[in-house]
This record gives sequence, structure tokens and C-alpha cells, in this order.
Amino acid sequence: KCALEPSAMVSDACVSYGEINGINDLIFSTLNSITQETDFFSYYRLNLFNTECPFWSDANSMCGNIACSVNTIESEDEIPLTWRAEELSKLEGPKANHPPRKIQAERPKERPLQGELGDDVGESCVVEYDDECDDRDYCVPEDEGSVGKGDYVSLVDNPERFTGYSGEGAHQVWNAIYSENCFMKPMADELEDQTLNVPLGGLQAASAFRDVLHQKAQRPEGLPLDNECLEKRVFHRLISGMHASISTHLCWDYLNQTTGQWHPNVQCFQKRLLEHPERISNMYFNYALVSRAVTKLRKHLDNYTFCTSDPAQDRETKARVNKLTSTLSGLPQIFDEKIMFQDPGALGLKEDFRNRFRNVSRLMDCVGCDKCRLWGKLQVNGYGTALKVLFDYDETKNGENPPLRRTELVALVNTLGRISHSIAAARSMQRALLTGTTHM
Ligand code: FAD
Repeated sequence: KCALEPSAMVSDACVSYGEINGINDLIFSTLNSITQETDFFSYYRLNLFNTECPFWSDANSMCGNIACSVNTIESEDEIPLTWRAEELSKLEGPKANHPPRKIQAERPKERPLQGELGDDVGESCVVEYDDECDDRDYCVPEDEGSVGKGDYVSLVDNPERFTGYSGEGAHQVWNAIYSENCFMKPMADELEDQTLNVPLGGLQAASAFRDVLHQKAQRPEGLPLDNECLEKRVFHRLISGMHASISTHLCWDYLNQTTGQWHPNVQCFQKRLLEHPERISNMYFNYALVSRAVTKLRKHLDNYTFCTSDPAQDRETKARVNKLTSTLSGLPQIFDEKIMFQDPGALGLKEDFRNRFRNVSRLMDCVGCDKCRLWGKLQVNGYGTALKVLFDYDETKNGENPPLRRTELVALVNTLGRISHSIAAARSMQRALLTGTTHM
């Protein structure tokens, strides 16, 4: 099938780009309201500061740029615009002390709500001090090897956007992440996907990008992904799709360090995404995979008790989550996890896959920018949770499924929210490029 059609299928998924755009239009506002307006999904608990990079000394990546000198300056207004990177990468606003955390800490583990929800309601509220690692986890629980259980951080107050974090430190982390996929070499996007699907809503035929696509189709660099086994391709797609989504957000919410203005930067989008259609393709793949995992949790979420200190809001949260999962469940299945890890010759591959993903999770402690580390950790946890749900969770059973921590659920839903937002932002920026709008 011609790769430039919106009807082209997303590689390794059972859905076309156009269909994903349609699904995204359907769920975008519900998902957005869940991640932006509910306490349950907008506070994330993690260890941002009490951890060290386990792979190398991160002194250089933390302090290697000129902006380190701004540490002693109190007000951001006094910082020269071009030096703001370090400041931009810090968390903003007060760190949240989420009410339930305190409540839970003061109450016995068995009955965290002490009957507050009524006698006839089971207290299935997920409390967060049971963070022991489960063999089936794809991520390192946030408190492993560190003191304390971390802090609650408001995701709404700290949006994922341009921070200025770049250079050697950032590249070292990305390289290490890609080299976890040592099933295949060379790494990163030297591996071009030959299918070259460019998915953005029928606008793909734009002559501006045709040459780039043509060149790539003629001269694929490195090994073709489609010659690799499915599981290895999936690992690469996950990482590359996450990277693409991060890049989309930093281009979408970009700070012009000369003028001090925040706005979408379509040239950034063109350079980082559009000229590498396989990156966009991988982002769509991630959408299929993560949304399938959320769909699979429908029954679990139907019975879930959302616990914040505000029962009315909890009911609203539940209604929104139900709306999301029932909409997704009503659609054709767009990713088939059952075809993975089936080959008897690939014994041990699943374990290998899981261990590599855990290493990616550990690598997040090497990210030298607070906000990037926050979103990096959240998204790796979200993808790890999606993998756990897809490969170790049976929706027809109760009781035998691996436990899902609250942090995993929050990470999963927010990760879907991130990809959903990336796809919408990518379509807007491509539309702007095609109509010659350089300032959005
Ligand atoms: P990079 O994005 O650093 O890419 C390095 C190399 O990887 C590229 O040269 C290319 O060969 C390859 N590559 C790039 N994209 C892909 C892809 N999608 N698939 C496969 N290969 C690819 N910066 C922010 O401003 N805001 C953030 O929130 C933020 N979060 C980050 C989170 C993490 C975990 C990390 C490691 C970095 C984060 N950064 C963030 C930094 C940002 O990702 C870039 O590293 C930085 O902007 C420098 O970009 P670059 O153009 O040098 O290429």
C-alpha cells in the first residue's frame, strides 16, 4: 500500500493512521479532562531528587552548561534569556502534598478510608506504600534503592515542554536508552523504517517533504527494521515513539530564547519529526499499543475506587474514566498483543525484553533536568505499565492479575494523554507548514 496514504496501516499494529486520528478526535477531550482536571490523575508521586544515575557520574550532564551560573540569581527576570535553560528545566510551583497521602499515612493499611465511603463499599482504594517490585514489572518502582517514597508533583503545573536541556548530557541518555535495544544495531534512527508511513491526515503529499521521503526510500540507512523479529521492532518503536512525542511537545510549547516568547515552533517540528517520518510512525504505533492497554483495563477500572479527599470529584473522575474506556472498548481492536512472544524459539525473549525496559527506567535517573526527568520517568512507567497489562494481564480473570499500583495507573493514563496530545499537535503543526503559517 502506498505509504503516503492516510489509509496506510501503522506498521506492527492493526490500524491505519487515519483511523487513529479519528479515534483520537473521539477521546481527546475526555482524556484531556481526566489528566488536567482530576486530582487523582494530575498528581504523580515519584523520586526525583533522592536518586543517582546508576550508570555514570552525572556531574557533567547536570552542570555542563553556562546556565549553571544562574543558580545564585533569585528572580527569573534577572536571567538573560539565552541563559534560562537551567531555570526552565526546574520544577515550577510548590510541590503538592496530595491530601490522600497524608490521610493514608495516618490510617491503617487495611482500611485506608476507615469506612468513609459507606459500609457497603469495599475499600479497594490503592494505597501507595506497597511498592515492592513484582517480577512482572517492566519498570523499577519509584522508591527502589532510595530513601523515602518520593514527592507528589503536580503534572498540570509542570507541563512537558521546551526546557533547553540538550547537548552531550541529553545525547548520552538517549544513546544509552537506544543501546538497551541491543537486539539490533546501529541504534537510534539510523534504522529507518522502510515503510515510511507519514500519517498526518491526508496532508502527506506536500511537495516540500516528498524529496526527503523519496531519498529515504531510495537509501535506507542501516538495517531495515522490518527484517527484525516483531519483539525487537516493538522495543525500538516504543523508545523512538516516546522520543518523538517528547520532541513534538518541546516543539509545540517552545521558548524562543531570544524574544522570550512561547509558541509552537514549526521549523523545530519539521526538522525533528517531519523529516523523519518513521519517528511519527512510531508515535502512532505507541498510540495503538497504549490505548489497547487502557482498553484492556476496562473491567478493572469499572470496579476501581478513586480515592482523593473529595468524594464528589472521585465520582466525576470515575465517570470520565468509564467514558474513556467504554468509548475505546466500542472500537475495533487496534493492537494485537497476542502475536508477541509466541515463537518457541524466542524463549527468554520476554524476560530479556522486560529487563531491558527496566534498564531504560533506571536510565531516567541520569536525565539532568528536573522537568524532563519527571516526564521521562512518568512516560517510561506508563509504557512499562502498558506492557505489563498487555502481556501479563488477563481481562477475563479476577484476582490472578498482577497488582497495579496507583502510580502505574496514573502514568499509563497520562502517557496515553501525552501521545494523544502529540498527535493532535503534530497535525496542527503540519497543517501550519502546509499553509505557510510559520508563526502559530
Ligand atoms: P535529540 O532529540 O537529543 O536526539 C539525539 C539523536 O537521537 C538524534 O540525533 C537522532 O539521531 C536520534 N533521534 C532523535 N529522535 C529520534 C526518534 N524519535 N527516534 C529514533 N531516533 C531519534 N527537552 C526539552 O526541551 N523538554 C523535555 O521535556 C525533554 N525531555 C527529555 C526527556 C528525556 C528522557 C531526555 C533524555 C531528554 C529530554 N529532553 C527534553 C531533551 C531533548 O529530548 C533533546 O535531547 C534535546 O532537545 C536535544 O535535541 P537534539 O536535536 O540534539 O536531538
